[in-house]
Amino acid sequence: MPFRVLCAAATVALLLSSCAGKHQTEGGTLALSFAPTTATSPAKKADADSPIALKPAAWGRLSDPKGLAGRTIEVSSLSDVKLRDKEVVLTFDDGPMPKKTEKILATLDEFGVKASFMMVGEMAKAHPEIAREVVADGHTIGSHTYRHPDLAHMSYDDAVAEIEKGRKAVEAATDVEADFFRFPYLADSKKLRQWVGSHRMVVMDVQVDSKDYFNVSPAAVATRTMDALRAHHKGIILMHDIHPRTAAMLPALLTQLKAEGYKVVQLKYGKPASDMVASSAVTKPLFATN
Ligand SMILES: [Zn+2]
Repeated sequence: MPFRVLCAAATVALLLSSCAGKHQTEGGTLALSFAPTTATSPAKKADADSPIALKPAAWGRLSDPKGLAGRTIEVSSLSDVKLRDKEVVLTFDDGPMPKKTEKILATLDEFGVKASFMMVGEMAKAHPEIAREVVADGHTIGSHTYRHPDLAHMSYDDAVAEIEKGRKAVEAATDVEADFFRFPYLADSKKLRQWVGSHRMVVMDVQVDSKDYFNVSPAAVATRTMDALRAHHKGIILMHDIHPRTAAMLPALLTQLKAEGYKVVQLKYGKPASDMVASSAVTKPLFATN
């Protein structure tokens, strides 16, 4: 049962994240946190969790949501992912999930931006029609194992088998290649990362964790994500398309990203255009040494 697996996974995620989570500020109203000039009054948890903050006026939703889409970057390894300041990559893990994924797709379409969906094999197999909808909308597809186990606590061979099974299930459901991979719980190892990298997949790391798996309000998730992003200036944002709060907060997050001048970049698997290979495609030595 995917639900049971994911519930168990969410519990483990909470446990794994608890150390880091203790130091996170949960509070901050959207008005305070999203304002370019930060207010000096201390943040209040109650305000961030208040449903009032979800009213369109409070979130400052833009009348024209377009203009947020940025570059498309072709990458064939993690080192090719070179984001400039104010560039973000949106990633959604653990789906596809009925209703939630579709709602997220609608929001992404409204804002004209593309994301990466790191699908769990079991979920893609259970909901292939939604998986194909993600593809049809032009988003990037990645895998996230078959059953979402903690690979760091499995034997190397079992972990590799999980990754392979997950990728095959996602590819069977979507009919496209799943060239990106994310470790469940971000629990990796050097050896497994090397295996992924040598099997035509790019490891999708995380710079900004929305922590949307915590049971807080959508407003709190959006606020925390923006706070973390402002500290990094750019990066790959981790979200999950299985949570209602993620779908609920996404319009506000995208609105705020645009208001602060961010661009949403799409990653695609391929040879980076900026590399010498692209500009000197006729140069024989490059091919000879590759
Ligand atoms: Zn996950």
